[in-house]
Amino acid sequence: MTKRRAVYPGSFDPITYGHIDIIKRAAFIFDEVIVAVAHNLDKRPLFSVKERVAMLKKATARMGNVKIDDFNSLVVHYVKKKGIHVIVRGLRMISDFEYEFQMALTNRKFDDSIETIFMMPNESYSYVSSKLIKEAAALGADLKEFVPHFVEKEVFKKIGRR
Ligand code: ADP
Repeated sequence: MTKRRAVYPGSFDPITYGHIDIIKRAAFIFDEVIVAVAHNLDKRPLFSVKERVAMLKKATARMGNVKIDDFNSLVVHYVKKKGIHVIVRGLRMISDFEYEFQMALTNRKFDDSIETIFMMPNESYSYVSSKLIKEAAALGADLKEFVPHFVEKEVFKKIGRR
């Protein structure tokens, strides 16, 4: 039987409990999930691709069917090259919808054979975003509700607080 595989692409700058929730849900449905870190330099990430990959690997170490990778191309080109046809994205709130909708339909124009599916996290993570976490950390906030402890330490190391 062919393996059902999916790619979960994103910035993951850094990984949060919201991302982890989506990864777990996807790993339950698919035989293999590749979490793929985008290089997207225009977003001026806090962490390098290497650092983001390392944190994802640590956070998913116990998930046997989850692999971590990175890509520096159009997501549909990356997915196609892997021989995969499904992109997983997370939907937190209505505010995510417009951007995700636009991106999914644009990707479909690029390649009609690739389907994007959306998954909702547990409601307790539906407001968690990497961006807000970085802003809160810069003001010295406690991050334990939002990211694993080792990620919190990395964030504070990076921004030089605490
Ligand atoms: P991108 O820059 O590609 O949006 P992100 O790392 O911010 O990358 O997000 C990757 C994907 O994960 C997106 O589909 C985003 O909507 C989703 N996501 C981010 N945070 C959460 C969360 N707390 N719960 C569920 N999905 C999330």
